[in-house]
Amino acid sequence: MNIKKGDLVLIRKGKDRGKTGKIIKAFPKEHKVLIDGLNLVKKTKKPRKEGEKGEIISVAQPIPRANVALICPSCKKPTKINYRIEEEKKFRICKKCGLKIP
Ligand SMILES: [Zn+2]
Repeated sequence: MNIKKGDLVLIRKGKDRGKTGKIIKAFPKEHKVLIDGLNLVKKTKKPRKEGEKGEIISVAQPIPRANVALICPSCKKPTKINYRIEEEKKFRICKKCGLKIP
């Protein structure tokens, strides 16, 4: 998977389509990413004590990698990623502006 924690991405599918957010966790095996504050699903939190009310909380759910596009930090556009190898190090390169993506 060519995107990782800390990357800014654009959501291309689903109810949050068009929104951008930062990846807070990547799941390379599942090809999914968790984005801060997006793809929220409401869940009921059970009361801990008797007499307490259950709370409805919003929890971010992971999104398939295929549904998001990386936003290049240099040109600020959603882009695809190329790789370049320099001095045995692999860098991610923006396909639009050709600059390195940290
Ligand atoms: Zn770029």
